[in-house]
Amino acid sequence: MENCIFCKIAAKQIPSKAIYEDDDLIAFHDINPAAPIHFLIVPKQHIATLADCSEAHAALLGKMALLAPRLAQEQGCGYQLNEQGHASGGYKTIFNVGPDGGQEVYHLHMHVIGGPRPWRGQR
Ligand code: AMP
Ligand code: ZN
Repeated sequence: MENCIFCKIAAKQIPSKAIYEDDDLIAFHDINPAAPIHFLIVPKQHIATLADCSEAHAALLGKMALLAPRLAQEQGCGYQLNEQGHASGGYKTIFNVGPDGGQEVYHLHMHVIGGPRPWRGQR
């Protein structure tokens, strides 16, 4: 897709701070982080929004969702439950969809936002 910034990142036409790549997905740090840890999981295929996905995209969406905990762990915000049942860490996963969802880049992406409760006092 011409003039799509995430297609250009996936094609290495513009740089990113990548943390993961495979045949289907790329993940990189958000250029304007909303929290101490903020990265994006992005399919290489151009799909404009979550609302454009169908059953045909179920495996891709599942792959995106399953990558989030693995990369969150690597980036230092993984969810932990110890043997005493004490929970710690964690993050938010967000798909913004459309104008009212605050979507700015119309190429499907999942935000993974973590760190020491960056959303505290917000929601
Ligand atoms: P959204 O509002 O869900 O469309 O979010 C788009 C996100 O992409 C924002 O958090 C931006 O900071 C981020 N972003 C835009 N351009 C770049 C870029 N070149 N590299 C990394 N992140 C970007
Ligand atoms: Zn694109």
